[in-house]
Amino acid sequence: APATPGALPPATPAHSSALQVLRSVFGYDSFRGQQQAIIQQVIDGRDVLVLMPTGGGKSLCYQVPALVKQGVGIVISPLIALMQDQVSALHQLGVKAAFLNSTLSLEQVRDTEQRLLNGELDLLYIAPERLSNSRTQALFARCNIALFAIDEAHCVSQWGHDFRADYLLLSVLHEQFPQVPRIALTATADERTREEIITRLSLENAQVFISGFDRPNIRYRIVQKDNARQQLLGFIRAEHAGDTGIVYCLSRKKVEDTAEWLNQKGIRALPYHAGMSHEKRQQNQHLFLMEDGLVIVATIAFGMGIDKPNVRFVAHLDLPKSVESYYQETGRAGRDGLPANAWMAYGLQDVLTLRQMLAASNSDEAHKRIEYHKLDAMLALCEMVSCRRQALLGYFGDDLREGCGNCDTCLEPVETWDGSIAAQQALSCIYRTGQRFGVAYLIDVLLGKNDERIRQFGHDRQSTFGIGKALHEKQWRSVFRQLVAKSLVEVDFEGHGSLKLTDACRPVLRGEQTLMLRKDVQVAKTKKERYEK
Ligand code: ADP
Ligand code: ZN
Repeated sequence: APATPGALPPATPAHSSALQVLRSVFGYDSFRGQQQAIIQQVIDGRDVLVLMPTGGGKSLCYQVPALVKQGVGIVISPLIALMQDQVSALHQLGVKAAFLNSTLSLEQVRDTEQRLLNGELDLLYIAPERLSNSRTQALFARCNIALFAIDEAHCVSQWGHDFRADYLLLSVLHEQFPQVPRIALTATADERTREEIITRLSLENAQVFISGFDRPNIRYRIVQKDNARQQLLGFIRAEHAGDTGIVYCLSRKKVEDTAEWLNQKGIRALPYHAGMSHEKRQQNQHLFLMEDGLVIVATIAFGMGIDKPNVRFVAHLDLPKSVESYYQETGRAGRDGLPANAWMAYGLQDVLTLRQMLAASNSDEAHKRIEYHKLDAMLALCEMVSCRRQALLGYFGDDLREGCGNCDTCLEPVETWDGSIAAQQALSCIYRTGQRFGVAYLIDVLLGKNDERIRQFGHDRQSTFGIGKALHEKQWRSVFRQLVAKSLVEVDFEGHGSLKLTDACRPVLRGEQTLMLRKDVQVAKTKKERYEK
């Protein structure tokens, strides 16, 4: 649809400055974060890669330079459904924008192409598959292009989940139009994705801007799982009575059970998972959006496009598979900028379960390796003894110079202890019992438990029997959890959760490496009882 002429402000003069455009066209006073620096680079004709979360203000980074510079800004976007909206919004501002995608009739395409050739457009949105078309390339060759903006640039990466083969075509832009600056943008910023974007789009000379991932009003907290449900209830009662919140669980059954249990305890909760009927899901989602003070208990099926500003907490009863998922899911809290909590209960069983699920999955080796790395990063975040926010932002390449003061590790510094001896004992115990047993059994051996099975295997006559009496059972579970999280020990899927040593454990076993472990804060009995009804 063509822009409505007449009532709108006049087109911007060719050399108006970025700030003028921001004010006169978009009506904003000042740039946000790194916008100005990014825009300046593009105006100066250089390539840039912008990593900014959703809502961070990426669009202006290419819209402003497209208006400041001569010629048209070409925006490649895979989201056909959003093109129309974006273009309409720009028309409202008096910007001459159009799009080319499969939803247009041949006549509309011709019309847009003609306007492009006449130099009548400031911005043209285009679907990536059109670039393979020689017609499009010939068209581009005949017009004056100010810049190429590659939106959702992570679609070029196989590391993520949105890979689109069409995005591989985008390298032709650089080959055909080497003098036109390119700005690639994405909200996915882990290091692998970033590297893949750079190589696949030949952005080696681009300046990389990473910013805005911090959500300072969210307080991150990861507690040691003891009785997770009870801990959750305690957390809600103590800090979020009557608040809107989301509780994430891994399985459908756990979703159902947890929702029901919360209701019994007087907390209004609704389930949401992919196994429910479409109507029921819609209904629960609708209630959650419309009402306040509802808790939704959900699998990760819930949340896409959920934008409720006053979600006061997001709780995880199970460990997310990756730091990106954790960031996304917790990011649904506190969109209104007011204080919000991201709370998670995490324990040994989470580590074992996720590691086993991965080992048992049918995906190919390369893909598995990727998943392993992602899980490791998530586990490292859980076992963190320094600021969690720093680690979280660091994962995305966004710097935070000092501790944030608004996460559990900042607020209550974690104590560490020299766990080298305990680790050696645990590792030897795994080794001497033949790497065939799970955690519960190993702990029984370490504690020297009088047990029929242990006697049958003759493990009561081994050197590791009863050498671990200095620690109690919970402390041993903590040691084993950290050994698995640090990959000094791996879980054998076929052996039903039995533990095996990895090469990484050798220096510790030989006493060549000190192993500092997290001292878990035990939930004090009295405190727990207070939470109980
Ligand atoms: P993204 O594409 O990164 O998800 P958008 O470009 O859609 O984010 O911007 C998110 C919101 O922030 C929009 O409503 C936009 O108008 C607003 N915004 C962006 N930059 C500024 C700014 N400098 N001043 C005020 N509002 C801004
Ligand atoms: Zn912190």
